[in-house]
Amino acid sequence: MIDYHFPLSIGEEETLNERRLLTEVESGLMMNGPESVRFLVVHCSATRADRDYTVEQLLRDHKTRGFRTIGYHLYIRRNGEVTQHRRLLEVGAHVRGYNRCSIGICYEGGLSATDGKPADTRTPEQKQALRELLGKLHTLFPKALILGHCDLPGVKKACPCFQVMSEYTF
Ligand SMILES: [Zn+2]
Repeated sequence: MIDYHFPLSIGEEETLNERRLLTEVESGLMMNGPESVRFLVVHCSATRADRDYTVEQLLRDHKTRGFRTIGYHLYIRRNGEVTQHRRLLEVGAHVRGYNRCSIGICYEGGLSATDGKPADTRTPEQKQALRELLGKLHTLFPKALILGHCDLPGVKKACPCFQVMSEYTF
């Protein structure tokens, strides 16, 4: 299911509690504007296709890494359920050196259920959700390049374990 609320979230104010403002450095830092978004970056969670990796687990792991909240803007579960974790123009925490000019979308999976190696494990529901999301984001940010994490310079990971640039040409 697509959260139809998400295209409206640009410019919505996030309520930060006082303590968070005082204690956390990365408290909802915003990009300068829609023109700041140069890349729509697709990731995988690098978890096995036969294992659940819930929003709660993702949140816990990203907090452990010192992030304020989940580093991706959007997360797609294996059943195609989409959740949003940062406002679209909020600076994310998903790709070193490019967080101020990109939106991060992550799908649950990316590792084979049989041998745990990098693999395109997207379910039909995830493929559909990802296509819809990228279509909407492309409408909002027509100049932003759609690519995979591994397509950015200096990235040695297999993430997101499929060819994003050839698949999503809007
Ligand atoms: Zn990645």
